Amino acid sequence: MDIALIGIGKIARDQHVPAIANSPDFTLSATVSRHGTVDGVEHYGDIDALLAAREDIRVVSLCLPPVPRFEVAAKALKAGRHVMLEKPPGATLSECYALEKLAREHGVSLYATWHSREADKVSTAKAWLADKTLTSLKVTWQEDVRRWHPGQDWIWQPGGMGVFDPGINALSIVTEILPHDIRLTDAHLFVPENCQTPIAADLTFAHPQGAKVTANLDFRKEGEQIWSIEVVTTDGTMTLYDGGAQIDFGGDAPVFDDQPLSGEYPRLYANMARLIERGGIDMDLRPFALVADANLLGRSEPVEPFEV
Ligand code: NAP
Repeated sequence: MDIALIGIGKIARDQHVPAIANSPDFTLSATVSRHGTVDGVEHYGDIDALLAAREDIRVVSLCLPPVPRFEVAAKALKAGRHVMLEKPPGATLSECYALEKLAREHGVSLYATWHSREADKVSTAKAWLADKTLTSLKVTWQEDVRRWHPGQDWIWQPGGMGVFDPGINALSIVTEILPHDIRLTDAHLFVPENCQTPIAADLTFAHPQGAKVTANLDFRKEGEQIWSIEVVTTDGTMTLYDGGAQIDFGGDAPVFDDQPLSGEYPRLYANMARLIERGGIDMDLRPFALVADANLLGRSEPVEPFEV
């Protein structure tokens, strides 16, 4: 299938372009971006130009930040194109519901991707947890925003989500691996005085069996970067490391691969191809609802201004 990539920024270059290049299902046939291009691929300046010129391209993959994404996604769906959304699937829950409705009305596929769910060891973790009784789960998601999001001012604007931009990846894994849904009960949000979104957050969740579930998200971590989920059950402990790429059952932390995340985006594109084949829609909004709830219920505390 021909596919167009929309929003040629960091994630499009780092992951989407190589994943499509190696995909048995898709050929990158056009890009849409105000500034970015991909060598040897036809380029359009906006979505309207693409939709008018390339009726033959039936699938579009959106790599824009969340706020500008809705308008582009809605135009593509109304034009009968299948749409794949980077995470988070939108800037608001109501626009995600609107996109899902549009996809149904126009009989096309819509995929809210969660790349961290495709990390190597997430399915192992889910299978192991299926028959266990949970005692506690602790997310520690600490990274250096200057290293991973250089120049991305949108992260600090309304809708940019701040530390929830990476933190939602942890919540996408948690909602995938736990057999029971959790509910947010408390959130403490640390917001730099010159920003609209949190740079750190402490979250507490209720679990139907009474397990203690917490998350610490922090964008201010220098040195070692930590993306781990420690799960304690009545039958032992399991820890996912490195964003779900490594797993450990009670021993020492494993040695990390050089490129532990290389399988995530190829699997997303394979999922998209299967979704289109069966005419499906995949809009699991549970991770996004937890982030929305944290912002609804959260207590905000101002912290020192963020300087690049
Ligand atoms: P980015 O590099 O800052 O932006 C992506 C592209 O979107 C930009 O190059 C820009 O292209 C376009 N864009 C930005 N603001 C726009 C606006 N207001 N209107 C129209 N187009 C706009 O961001 P990114 O890191 O690739 O992230 C994009 C999405 O991918 C986010 O939702 C993020 O959560 C997700 N993601 C990022 C990473 C990562 O490591 N960076 C990892 C996984 C997922 P033009 O200016 O050329 O149009």
